[in-house]
Amino acid sequence: MSMTFVAATNNPGKLAEMKRILGVLGIDVITLKEAGLNISPEENGRSFRENAKIKASAVCEASGMPAIADDSGLCIDALGGSPGIYSARYGGEDLDDAARAELVIGLMKDVPPERRSARFVSAVCVAFPEGTFVEAEGTCEGRVLPRPEGNGGFGYDPIFEDMAGNRFGIVPAEVKDRVSHRRAALNALAEKLGRNGTEC
Ligand code: IMP
Repeated sequence: MSMTFVAATNNPGKLAEMKRILGVLGIDVITLKEAGLNISPEENGRSFRENAKIKASAVCEASGMPAIADDSGLCIDALGGSPGIYSARYGGEDLDDAARAELVIGLMKDVPPERRSARFVSAVCVAFPEGTFVEAEGTCEGRVLPRPEGNGGFGYDPIFEDMAGNRFGIVPAEVKDRVSHRRAALNALAEKLGRNGTEC
């Protein structure tokens, strides 16, 4: 399977992971810039899945090439599933990743260890110029740490530990790549692409 997709993201951390994981799966990814695009589609869907489809469709339409989008976030049980689909802008557009992580840590300060369960979710979608889509989802179960640890990865990685004890801010990138929600989603997507071609 030899394919090239435009990645519908302006997030460098996410882009690096998509490139690495898809590269291993035999799929090339080019950036929005390499495709000659400067767009940031409005994410007004009500689910990760809807948002991934919105982003993939917009980039496919603008580039005329197959486009891949990942919509993802951290869902924390003690916060009723927040930040969820609002992960990238939780607490307001002005916060950076570190401030957002601190906001979550503060909200969780009185939550005991047994109630700190959370999961990363990734919904991925490829949109093809002929109007077809392939979609998949992946999750990574774990818990929110009491304080940030390490500075690896991006986003909420420094405050997340998976069920096997991998602290995403500390483990090497190749470890996160093996166990992450993004890896699970992209693996499932690659399987569907291999099996079903461009069918939904
Ligand atoms: P999106 O670009 O709207 O999908 O927003 C994704 C946001 O969810 C990111 O900006 C991060 O805050 C968070 N997120 C998604 N995946 C990860 C991950 O693998 N590690 C840490 N944070 C993530």
